[in-house]
Amino acid sequence: MLEGLESFGGTWLMHKYPGVRSDSDLYTFGYRFKPWTSAPIASAGEILKYMGEVIDENDLARHIRYHHRISAAAWSSADNLWTLTATNSETGETSRFTCNFLWMCQGYYRHSEGYTPEWPGMDRFQGRIVHPQTWPDDLDLTGKKVICIGSGATTATVVPAIAGQCEHVTVLQRSPTYFWTGRNANELADTLRELEIDETWIHEIVRRKVLHDQQMVTQLAFDEPEMIKTELLNIVRSLLPEGYDVDKHFTPKYRPWQQRLAFVPDGDLFAGISAGKASMVTDEIDTFTETGIRTKSGEELEADVILTATGFNLSVLGDIEFTLDGTPLNLADTVTYRGMMFTGVPNLLWVFGYFRASWTLRADLISDLVCRLLHHMDELGAQRVTPALRSQDADMAIGPWMDPSNFNPNYLMRSMHLLPKAGNKPEWRHTQDYWYEKEALPAADLDDGCLVYE
Ligand SMILES: Cc1cc2nc3c(=O)[nH]c(=O)nc-3n(C[C@H](O)[C@H](O)[C@H](O)COP(=O)(O)OP(=O)(O)OC[C@H]3O[C@@H](n4cnc5c(N)ncnc54)[C@H](O)[C@@H]3O)c2cc1C
Repeated sequence: MLEGLESFGGTWLMHKYPGVRSDSDLYTFGYRFKPWTSAPIASAGEILKYMGEVIDENDLARHIRYHHRISAAAWSSADNLWTLTATNSETGETSRFTCNFLWMCQGYYRHSEGYTPEWPGMDRFQGRIVHPQTWPDDLDLTGKKVICIGSGATTATVVPAIAGQCEHVTVLQRSPTYFWTGRNANELADTLRELEIDETWIHEIVRRKVLHDQQMVTQLAFDEPEMIKTELLNIVRSLLPEGYDVDKHFTPKYRPWQQRLAFVPDGDLFAGISAGKASMVTDEIDTFTETGIRTKSGEELEADVILTATGFNLSVLGDIEFTLDGTPLNLADTVTYRGMMFTGVPNLLWVFGYFRASWTLRADLISDLVCRLLHHMDELGAQRVTPALRSQDADMAIGPWMDPSNFNPNYLMRSMHLLPKAGNKPEWRHTQDYWYEKEALPAADLDDGCLVYE
């Protein structure tokens, strides 16, 4: 395992803004084999502790090399080998590694910097502009006026965490997001614990229950979007002062689940608004000014600090330069095999998880498939496996990696041209459907002609 950072954790190591936490429950976000024993929504610190235990309990540390940032990956057909070029971030030294099979677990966004749009007048602003992804150690918000631009999960997390400390936080959003809220507790888990059931059982039972409930809600969101929408808005309305303009600030234009639903544990965002510590402005930015932001409707918002909770830059294959026998690989020219391998690219597989369910559920399913595939190659005596469209796929409609009417967050829409294409058959798609894939991936026929062994 080669890792560019100084330690394990990826997302949970990099993100240091106040309150940083998961928005999935850890019963499904956590490993299937290691019980989660705390509240379902977890802080970055709790997740790092859990991951550290997994590394210790399974003696994995000796397999990991930190500080190794990979810049290039070159496939040689003559040798059936990938050669990786790594730079050691401590020493600056370059080293090379070869492997038969390359399993990419690079995540989906660039860790070094978040996405900040260019707005007019940004250089005029006299205060500080901070992207939460690169939160400075010396940022003190005590008594400060803060504007937080954006309306996603980051805003929902950071605003309640800083509201008590700042003079005031204004959330400036172009368009609203769906939020759902509830207690940060799992009643079934609590009951099973009271009954002194073994934690291994609790983990499995609660995981199944969460997945069962999510499947029902997801299905309902597709079948009865208006009903789910009304339900979500009623909850938000009940947590805000009488007469609050929920239509303007909390009623999105898209359907629930076309973008990830942001979870607000214990309604903390709405408590901040009700207490007058935070307020919402739904408007577009006209310009930054010396003292804050002027909106298109002419409102002047004052700030000492502006947080740009405006999302990610998608990173495709870890920003590594890939070549096949010396020719640069353009992933957008390939079609994906089940959202994990690519036509014409040998012995390479990536993990791209779920957005609607926990990302990691797919990492589990893919791990099983990788093991099965490598065993199968051993049985066949094959050195190489390359996805290729079959004759019956010749007329298949080829479209974007993800159907925008199904799931359309901005960071995916901005970068769709960089991603592999998808077909309209299950073998050539990344469905984003855990409930389908949990049956389909274990049953996938590795000899159906989509994978060519040599
Ligand atoms: C604040 C926050 C909260 C989130 N909460 C949830 C949640 O609750 N549920 C959920 O499902 N998802 C959540 N996500 C999405 C989250 O990123 C994924 O679920 C999950 O953490 C991804 O794990 P990963 O290991 O695939 O990728 P990452 O966590 O992104 O880790 C990728 C690793 O690969 C390394 N790497 C990448 N490129 C290179 C290279 N070229 N050379 C060397 N190393 C490289 C990186 O340094 C990093 O350590 C959240 C994201 C954020 C930012």
